[in-house]
Amino acid sequence: MVKHYNIPIFLPELACPFRCSYCNQATISGQSHIPSESEMIALIERNLNSFPKGNNHIEIAFFGGNFTGLPTRIQRNALQVAKKYVCNNQVQGIRLSTRPDYVDSEKLLLLKENGVTTIELGAQSLDEEVLLRCGRGHTAADVHQASALIKAEGFSLGLQMMIGLAGDTLSRALQTAHQIIEAGADETRIYPCLVIRGTELEQAFLKGSYIPLSLDEAVAWTAQLVLLFEKAGVKIIRLGLHPSEELNNEGLIAGPYHPSFKELVMTKIWKNILLANNEWPGCSELQIEIAPKERNFCIGFEATNKKWLLTRFKNIRFIANDAVSDRNFLLKPILSCSS
Ligand code: SF4
Repeated sequence: MVKHYNIPIFLPELACPFRCSYCNQATISGQSHIPSESEMIALIERNLNSFPKGNNHIEIAFFGGNFTGLPTRIQRNALQVAKKYVCNNQVQGIRLSTRPDYVDSEKLLLLKENGVTTIELGAQSLDEEVLLRCGRGHTAADVHQASALIKAEGFSLGLQMMIGLAGDTLSRALQTAHQIIEAGADETRIYPCLVIRGTELEQAFLKGSYIPLSLDEAVAWTAQLVLLFEKAGVKIIRLGLHPSEELNNEGLIAGPYHPSFKELVMTKIWKNILLANNEWPGCSELQIEIAPKERNFCIGFEATNKKWLLTRFKNIRFIANDAVSDRNFLLKPILSCSS
């Protein structure tokens, strides 16, 4: 099986013309300066040496800012460092994240010439009011236009979304997901909006004019979004922010952060599936057979689904069964069951 690895290189938001209300990239990424060529090489080499040998697909990933808004010289230097590793077959691709209003044919040509394979756009929301209120400085039309150009030039397209921004609702988040799918995204990331120290959102939160989603709300919304993206074949490459020292220490003021956010979402999806089931055998001891990769999610984060089922059944076993696919499951009485 192919294993995927990213070598993340953070380029802070020096090129952003606006400051989004929720953004303090230095806190989120733990990086506050553009790394030099030698720093990038050292970081790439360190990562390459740490990956186990085998059937790997490795990408160098420029994250954290507005890549295509950086001066062309800085973009070219960074890309040329990465491209050498592509040419040597040490890595298989280059990805980067940028703003939708900083994408045009000329910028894409530079990326193409330098081996970029995937472009991720911070779409965040495709609702105009939400975009306006969070100070993104671009419209939904900018996202659609940039997405079309990126697809037309043959790049793989990622569209990231953020839920729970000021003015966001579940229905607006679902609409955003539908539009991301229609825009032809190959992959997405879903981040719940957090209140980070030093941001405009922190001020709004302290004044009481912004209330973040609760963790339960963020998990429930994301569970619905995940099902939409899965059905449309859009790969979900991240749910929730990576923990970082800055975030864990003093950076996080409020909001639905959890280091195991993905596990919480998968637990919720399974809880919903189990709740919707109305064909439970009439016995008190039960075996649930599920696909091996779903077993832990079905049991739930900290066994929450198991504990919940144990309020209804005397004994529950979760058995991995290769013959069961996706999120299907088989219910079987345990032998001692009398009914
Ligand atoms: S575009 Fe991204 S990096 Fe720039 S201010 Fe907004 S969130 Fe921060």
